Amino acid sequence: MEVLIADDDALSRRILQDVLVTWGYQVKVTKNGHEAWEALQREDTPSLAILDWMMPGLDGVEICKLLRQQAKDRYTYIILLTSRYRPEDIVQGLEAGADDYIIKPFNPEELKYRLKIGQRIIDLEERILGLARIDYLTGLLNRRAFMERLEAEISRSKREKTSLGIIIIDLDFFKRVNDSYGHLAGDRVLQSVARCLQQSCRRYDFAGRYGGEEFILGFPGVTKEGIQDIAFRIRKSISQCKTICTGQQEPITVTASLGVACMEDHFDADQLISAADDALYQAKREGRDKVVMAGS
Ligand SMILES: [Mg+2]
Repeated sequence: MEVLIADDDALSRRILQDVLVTWGYQVKVTKNGHEAWEALQREDTPSLAILDWMMPGLDGVEICKLLRQQAKDRYTYIILLTSRYRPEDIVQGLEAGADDYIIKPFNPEELKYRLKIGQRIIDLEERILGLARIDYLTGLLNRRAFMERLEAEISRSKREKTSLGIIIIDLDFFKRVNDSYGHLAGDRVLQSVARCLQQSCRRYDFAGRYGGEEFILGFPGVTKEGIQDIAFRIRKSISQCKTICTGQQEPITVTASLGVACMEDHFDADQLISAADDALYQAKREGRDKVVMAGS
């Protein structure tokens, strides 16, 4: 894990850096408040920061206040280093938005465990953010996370002048599965299909649950012909996917209709999705268990 440190005093900076390195942390060193502030604005900034309170220009408490005013995707856990030890000073630091404080000259063992607390909080935050992106039933991305990823991949495709394809998948007559076998069995089927979709994806492809029995897949770098072949393969593998449920003699099978669209014809996420959606409805109209390419 990387830790950002800011201290204007060369000796105390050195001591701090040395103990952190000994404990296995990577250290990003800054020498004053302005340098620290700039480093904290970077996208790859460490999530843990140890800031000296007293620094010329911008001090540790001011950095805390400024940082907490910003709307950020990732939290920065801040430990203030201070030679001030009066309760009212400590309150002022915490009020400014620091998460913890250490009194200088610091006791290494104390710092070690306070850093561990910070690390635990950062890890928890990452886990929660990760869970907020996942569909709980299938383990695929949820709709919002899929859309974010799609937007990012589309920008990248434009930058790198490559293509990208998407497939929207809707399970045919899924209501019948729920009605005949119950909702638990229906959930099992969704999970099996999700696993089957994941197996059809390469490492850099991405899969999401779009709605009830609707899935959506993104394939960066894939051409129009390529995405069509992938869709045919997926249609086949869904139809061969068997879900075994307790109390059922026969495994449950389903078929799916697939709508396919490619960036060669469409230029943003909304266009791409609505084209794939139209193709999907055409596949439904034409009898289901079918792949339709947008614009064909
Ligand atoms: Mg200082």
